[in-house]
Amino acid sequence: MNPPRPERWAHVPEHTWNDWTWQQQNRLTRLPELEAAFRLTPEERRAFEASAASFRVSITPYYASLIDPDDPSCPIRQQAIPQLGELEVFDFEHRDPLAEEQHMPVPGITHRYPDRVLFYVIHHCPVYCRHCTRKRKVSDPTTAAALRQIEEGIAYIARTPAVRDVLLSGGDPLSLSDARLDMILERLLAIEHVDLVRIGTRNPVTLPQRITPALAEVLRRHRPVYVHTHFNHPRECTPEAARALNLLADAGCVLGNQMVLLRGVNDDPELVVTLNRWLLRQRCRPYYMFQCDMAQGITHLRTPLSTGLKIIDRLRGHCSGMAVPHFVVDLPGGGGKISLLPEYLQGRDGPWVTFRNYQGDLYRFYDVPEG
Ligand code: SF4
Repeated sequence: MNPPRPERWAHVPEHTWNDWTWQQQNRLTRLPELEAAFRLTPEERRAFEASAASFRVSITPYYASLIDPDDPSCPIRQQAIPQLGELEVFDFEHRDPLAEEQHMPVPGITHRYPDRVLFYVIHHCPVYCRHCTRKRKVSDPTTAAALRQIEEGIAYIARTPAVRDVLLSGGDPLSLSDARLDMILERLLAIEHVDLVRIGTRNPVTLPQRITPALAEVLRRHRPVYVHTHFNHPRECTPEAARALNLLADAGCVLGNQMVLLRGVNDDPELVVTLNRWLLRQRCRPYYMFQCDMAQGITHLRTPLSTGLKIIDRLRGHCSGMAVPHFVVDLPGGGGKISLLPEYLQGRDGPWVTFRNYQGDLYRFYDVPEG
């Protein structure tokens, strides 16, 4: 069941509400619009005034309808409405925590791992997530990728045979028109050494209306396209989002979710179980659970590493292995991703290894010698 629509949009006809261009055109971007939709706290007002110029605020009416208008601790609100924590900048934080700009052979391409590139095709997103790792450039229209830059990116990939996997990112690639996306997919998949094209998108979460049959048809033509979504909380698991994911899956897309672990949003094992079970029902595999990066102005949302390990410990053995994502830290400075696991190996006595299982019981396992 859809939650009842807030009063502000109760009069909007269903077909208009479900039109993604209407949702885009009616995004909440200014303080008076936020004031009209939510009971803002004085802190939120101050945070908006101080932060919105450097990292814009944008909330689709759909995503706004998931926000509790009266509860400042609402987990959707934490992701979409600036909080005072955004204004705090610490020495250990970075503008570009993953050094993406340092590994750029041409503008708009980060080439860090040997066989993969990140290809930034647009800097627009329907909702600007307050925990965004790329807030240094996302939302800034002056840094957006023009067609010429996209052409240069495709040319770089074409002349670099080591690149087998291209992740379209941004911003949100599904903010492009169907025609532009079609062109990019067609050109990339015509390159002989490109095995795989992936799209990182939050549209199924923040603007599921964008997943239209016409878009699905574009993706179907180029299948398999791998689509990484970014669901963070069960409140985002609506019938609209389910419809969007199922349309993508029916079009032959391979779906995976990349959750970001956020304090006060999803740092609760039971909540992650609920979220991941719902995702699996929509044919979307929980893929990564990211430790929040060391980006500027998001430390108020970061959790200790032990929180992620506790969540993995709760998931493993207690629910399907398909529901257990990799808990990943993307190392600062471009060090790449590492995966963390709770300590299951408890000790070794010659060839005998002692393991702890998911219930805390100990088991001895005979290991064969090396060589
Ligand atoms: S959708 Fe992705 S790129 Fe856009 S603001 Fe959110 S986290 Fe950043």
